[in-house]
Parts: sequence; C-alpha cells; structure tokens
Amino acid sequence: MKPNAKTLERHSRMLALRDIEEKDLESIMNTTITVVGAGGLGSPALRLLTSIGFGTIRIIDHDVVDLSNLQRQNIYNTEDVGTPKVDAAVANLSKQNPDVFFEAVAATIRSDNAIELLNGSDIVLDGLDSMDARRAVNAACLYHGIPYIYAGALEYYANISTFIPNKTGCLHCLIGDMQDNPENTCVNVGVSTSLLALVASIEVREAVLLAIGKEPKLAGRLMHIDVEALSFDSFEIQRMDSCPVCGIKPSVPEKQSEISVTMLCSKSFHVSPPEELNLDLDEIANQWDNKYQVTKRLRSLTLESGEIKVTLMGRGNAVVEGLKDPDEVLACYREIVNI
Ligand SMILES: [Zn+2]
Repeated sequence: MKPNAKTLERHSRMLALRDIEEKDLESIMNTTITVVGAGGLGSPALRLLTSIGFGTIRIIDHDVVDLSNLQRQNIYNTEDVGTPKVDAAVANLSKQNPDVFFEAVAATIRSDNAIELLNGSDIVLDGLDSMDARRAVNAACLYHGIPYIYAGALEYYANISTFIPNKTGCLHCLIGDMQDNPENTCVNVGVSTSLLALVASIEVREAVLLAIGKEPKLAGRLMHIDVEALSFDSFEIQRMDSCPVCGIKPSVPEKQSEISVTMLCSKSFHVSPPEELNLDLDEIANQWDNKYQVTKRLRSLTLESGEIKVTLMGRGNAVVEGLKDPDEVLACYREIVNI
C-alpha cells in the first residue's frame, strides 16, 4: 500500500524528520505488528503505533476493562468498564486513525497457541504481565523468526530489550528459569503511569526501527529504567551458548487438555478452555437470563448475579469477578458454558 495525499499530510511531521522518507512510511504502512497484552504497557504502545500508522495492528488480550485500569491504560474510557479490552481498544483506536487495520483477538496467549496467534506478524511487542506468557511468546517468535520487543515494568522500574532470532539471544538467555514473584504484582506494589508511558515509547521506537529496516538500539542490549531516580542504564547482554530455547530448532508444543484458571492483576480470574469454542452467545444469554442479569455486547456477554460477574467471549475465554476460589470459578464457568 502507498500513502495517499491525506496520509502524507497526517504524517508530515514524521516525514520532516531528517532520516525518515516516504518509503519508510510505506514500510510502516505495510507492517503487521502484534501487541500481546493491552494493559499498562500495551495501551500507551497501541496509542503510539496507531498514530504512527502501522498498517495492521493485532491486539491479543484476555481481560475486560476494570475501573482500576483507567489510571494508566489510556486507550480506555470510563464507559468501557466491563467491556473486553480488545473490543474497547479497537473501537477507540479506530477513531484515532481510520487508516489502520485492527485485528482483535480475545484470547490468552499460551505455549500451545502462541505459534498460531502470532503467525503472520512482522514484529511482536510485549505488553504482558506474566513470565509464562512471555516464554510462550519468546518460543513462538523464535519458531516464526519474528523480532520480539520485550518489556516488563512494575512500581518504578522497568527492563526492555529487543530479541532478534538468529542474531541476538532470546528471553530465556536473559532470564533463565526465573519465575514471577507472586508478591510482586501491580496490585501489591503498584506501577507508575509515567514509567509505563516511557517504556512503551521506547518499545515503539524499536518497532519503528525494525519496520523501516534499521538496527533497533536494544538488540543485544538490556535497558533498565528507574523513574524514582530518573536513571536510564543499558548494558550488553549475550546469547547463552547452551540456551535450551534459542539453541535448538523450535518445535510445536502439545495442546493443553485442561481448562486453565488464572488470577488477573485486577483480582478477578481468567478462564481459558484448551481449545477455541466458538460459543453461541445468544443461546447462552437466553439459557441464563432467569438466573443472571445478562448484558449482550457485539462479541461478548456479561452475566451478573449479586457479587458474581462473568464476562464471556465468543472464543470461550471468560473473566470471572466476585469469586475467591479457583475451583468455584471453574464450576461456575463449566455450568454456564456447559462443558
Ligand atoms: Zn536463548
């Protein structure tokens, strides 16, 4: 696709930069970028990617908008509370730049679906908050040969790096077997809105460099940001010779067989079936409208009864609020979906 007169006008200040030419804008317009996680990092990154005019932006997220998200997740409005994030994101971002084609994927990214969900991406940008999900993305990016812009931010501190298959090390070379610390979540220690905006800006700058065929600045480097001290440090990182992830030919993992229940940052639970279900949301709405107050949206359904609120998406994943025990969440989900 080539830029027309309106597109050239829209991007005139970017084109005025001394090292950006019309062909670079064209490259950006022909790039498919996937943002995994449309939360604290993904939201400001999506704002910037949309304004810069990336041709196709795929958004993968499994959560619904919560009131506590709005302090930092700047692509959502107050009226979006309760809506699946991917749907609210696409509705709001489309108004910002109608030239961008959006793909909304309401799903949990896992090791057994990441290869499929990231297929066709030129660049993957990290907006995740769990190491398991990042490991899945890392492996799938190696499988497809896609550059992966990694970032993690919490409290006042963040790390960023860009992993390029067959060129730099991978996420596993950097973090080894490190696991998430359950005490260190944004619910417990919080996260600075300014930090997230800074980190997202740097991720997007790396994405632009990749899209226009220039060397990203954080390939083979790790940047550490501390906004409390306002310090930016970066240092070289090496590929691990014996890395069990990027050192071997990547393979397709086996499909998981169980329904997974994970706690989200907003203290609700996410339920993910082993395979995409393609639910008939109208039928489920009719089946449960005696027991629950049912709200239908374009591609989701919310069922409410007292404290319990279940937001169900067409692919079969759901966000459950108001229950404390994962077994109760699973039982509630199984009953509603009838599996
Ligand atoms: Zn590696």
